[in-house]
Amino acid sequence: MPHVLTAAELPVEDLLRRADSWRQRLTENPTPSVQPRAAIVALLFYEPSTRTRAAFEQACVLLGYHPLSITAEASSIAKGESLQDTVRTLNAQDVQAIVIRHPQAGAPHIAAQVSDAPILNAGDGAHEHPTQALLDLYTLWLHYGKPDPASRWLSGRKIAIVGDIRHSRVARSNLTLLTRAGAEVWLCAPPALLPDAPLPNAHTTHNAEEAVRNADVVMALRLQTERMAQGLLPSLNAYRRDYQIHAERLRLVKPHCVVMHPGPIQRGVEISDEVADGAQSLILTQVRNGVYVRAAALEYALYESEPS
Ligand code: ASP
Repeated sequence: MPHVLTAAELPVEDLLRRADSWRQRLTENPTPSVQPRAAIVALLFYEPSTRTRAAFEQACVLLGYHPLSITAEASSIAKGESLQDTVRTLNAQDVQAIVIRHPQAGAPHIAAQVSDAPILNAGDGAHEHPTQALLDLYTLWLHYGKPDPASRWLSGRKIAIVGDIRHSRVARSNLTLLTRAGAEVWLCAPPALLPDAPLPNAHTTHNAEEAVRNADVVMALRLQTERMAQGLLPSLNAYRRDYQIHAERLRLVKPHCVVMHPGPIQRGVEISDEVADGAQSLILTQVRNGVYVRAAALEYALYESEPS
C-alpha cells in the first residue's frame, strides 16, 4: 500500500505527470462533474493549515471522495486519544486514506505502522512536507517548460532558500527533490536558525547576499515561531535587515529569477510586499499547483495506477 511519507520515497516522475494531467483537465473545465463515491478520506490536522488542507479537500472532491476534516481541538484527540487509536478508529469506519499534519516529526510514520489505509504526510514537525516539495518542484518544472523529468533538469540552476531553515520541513523536503533534479541549493539563515548538523548536499551561508547572488530561484521561508525556543531570534528588525527578500536584495539575482514561498507569508518580515506581489513571484501559482499535486498524490495513494 503506497503511503506518502517522505520526499525521498515519492515516484516523482509519475506524480509530476499526474499533476500535469490534473492541471490540463481542470484548465479545460474548472468545475468538472464527478461521480461521488460513498467513501471518505480523513484529513487529520493537529496543526493549523489553510493551503494544504484546502488543496487536499479539493483533491478529495475531484476524486469523488468525501473529505472528513478532523481537527485536534474538535475531536477525541482533545480527550487524550493516542494517534494510533485515532487511526484505528478511522480504519474501523472504512476511511480510504488518511492525510495527517502533526507537530511531531515522525507522527505519520507511526500512523502508517497501524493503518490499513494509506497515510499521506501533510507536514510533520520540522521533518518533512513531501507534497509541498512536490508542488514546488512541479511549479518549477512547468516554469522551465516541462523538461524530461527523469533527467537532471535543474542542473546549472542555483536555488537559494532563505529563512528559518532550522524549523522548516519545507526546506528539508525541497532539498531532497531539488538536488535530485540537479539544482545547486543554498540554505541561508542566521546561525540560530540553521540546523545543528549541516543538511546534506547543500551550501550553507549566513549571508543573504551570497545566497541570492546569481540565483535562478529564491525561496523565502516564514519564521516558524510556533517551533522556536524563546529568545532564539533576539531582534526581528535585524532579521528583516539581513534576510528579508526585497527588491534591493533581488538586484543580485540572475535575470528571469523567480521568487517562491510556501505560505503563509508574513509580509514585511521575510518578504516585502513589493516582491510578494511582483512579477517575479510564483506564490499564487504554487498555491494553485498545490491542488493538482494533492490530487495526483491522493490518486497515487488510493489507486497506485496510471492516471484515470
Ligand atoms: N505551510 C508550510 C508548512 O506547513 C510553511 C509554513 O508554515 O511556514 O510547513
